[in-house]
Amino acid sequence: GSAATDIPRNPAFSKLNADDISYFRTILDERNVVEDEDRLSAANVDWMRKYQGSSKLLLLPKSSQEVSKILHHCNSRKLAVVPQGGNTGLVGGSVPVHDEVIINLALMDKIVSLDKINGILVCEAGCILENLSLFLENEGFIMPLDLGAKGSCQIGGNISTNAGGLRFLRYGSLHGTILGLEVVLANGTILDMLGTLRKDNTGYDLKHLFIGSEGSLGIVTKVSVLTPPKLMSTNLAFLACKDFTSCQKLLLEAKRALGEVLSAFEFMDSHSMDLVLSHLDGVRTPLPSSLYNFYILIETTGSDETYDKTKLEAFLLRSMEEGLILDGVVAQDINQSSSFWRIREGISEASIKVGAVYKYDLSLPIDQFYGIVEEMRNRLGEVAKVIGYGHLGDGNLHLNIMTARYDSDILAQIEPYVYEWTSKHKGSISAEHGLGLMKANKIHYSKSPETVQLMVDIKKLLDPNRILNPYKVLPQSCFN
Ligand code: FAD
Repeated sequence: GSAATDIPRNPAFSKLNADDISYFRTILDERNVVEDEDRLSAANVDWMRKYQGSSKLLLLPKSSQEVSKILHHCNSRKLAVVPQGGNTGLVGGSVPVHDEVIINLALMDKIVSLDKINGILVCEAGCILENLSLFLENEGFIMPLDLGAKGSCQIGGNISTNAGGLRFLRYGSLHGTILGLEVVLANGTILDMLGTLRKDNTGYDLKHLFIGSEGSLGIVTKVSVLTPPKLMSTNLAFLACKDFTSCQKLLLEAKRALGEVLSAFEFMDSHSMDLVLSHLDGVRTPLPSSLYNFYILIETTGSDETYDKTKLEAFLLRSMEEGLILDGVVAQDINQSSSFWRIREGISEASIKVGAVYKYDLSLPIDQFYGIVEEMRNRLGEVAKVIGYGHLGDGNLHLNIMTARYDSDILAQIEPYVYEWTSKHKGSISAEHGLGLMKANKIHYSKSPETVQLMVDIKKLLDPNRILNPYKVLPQSCFN
């Protein structure tokens, strides 16, 4: 079922009328002004089927100029809009709350250029992440980010959520790898910040405002990305540990011993493993037993097959001797690697098969990392299934709590407890998914009042009518 929101519609917004639709038909191809009920119902609901809007119109622009004309019209008419990419976001940011017009960038999927010396890719924002990865791999490069939703998410959506994902440990945040953006502001102005330079200290670096702003400040239409070279040797180990302390120590040792070749360090508890094994067809544990408490995936990527393998094997042997690892297996080929990754990447997919899932995406100091999972398990007892997994190498825990259906009594047992706990331990209530609708009112757990006020001022400056993705990111009360 869907988790209803009780946010009232902002009466300052106009209602869409026949003249608006006729106007959109003059600026876009007719078939890209979508009123078809089936397509609208898919665009109105999020990936988890938790948030549902009631938009009557989906627009599919093909160029920045079309986005500009749409926004210019919506702004002058005070029509609210929701920018949408692959609609894989996990905080209810990509779907309307009420009747906002949906602007999806799927048709803006062209690659503009690739500088093969510096590895700089320029493309439109609607390009699907996996398509960019495949294109680059043929050219000897890779995308600096990778995540389970790669087959559907768009690079514009990744940038707007400042997505982290599986390569963050090695290649860092999009704040480092995005070199430039083209953005259309609420009033239709096209802002050309599409630089392709590594270094450019001419004034404020405004692109950073849009990275992670979840469609609330502008629509990203083009991007310039610094892409690392594709290295030829990749190794992947699937390991079992007896307790969380061993996982922590293993991380420290992996950073020390594997150094420059370490490219991913992912973590999941036995409850996550059980979930995947019981809900996803064809997934099996690569280890002889599935009775361990914790599992770690370690990936190395380097340029020398023999050297990298020797380094990894020596590290694994030592860690086993020291008791940090109880069991483990190194993938022998690409098919086995994919099957290891399928377990880790399939957790989200498996979690929504249970019924309802409450997802928390927390940044926590490493010594506190697993404490909240155990606390929630004790707190909720039999009524819920609680799992913990995530990007341990980046201090990012995904805490998922699953029940048969959404229930306000259960929610009251989880929130605000999870947020208070995170705040008390100096963590962040959103490591990589953003705030969206789910956490707009919770921002104060992670940001000071002065900081939130400056964000509100920036929002008012860039989008005075607040037409861009209303009700999301910042608390509504800040605008009263
Ligand atoms: P959408 O879901 O369509 O939109 C997300 C937000 O961005 C919305 O607020 C929307 O309004 C805005 N937006 C979208 N496109 C634009 C644009 N062009 N301009 C302005 N605003 C825009 N996230 C991680 O960080 N790391 C992970 O490892 C990860 N793994 C995932 C695994 C699975 C199976 C799933 C389902 C999700 C995962 N996510 C992860 C969350 C999600 O995939 C990311 O947030 C992704 O970056 C969203 O991209 P999207 O194109 O689907 O955007």
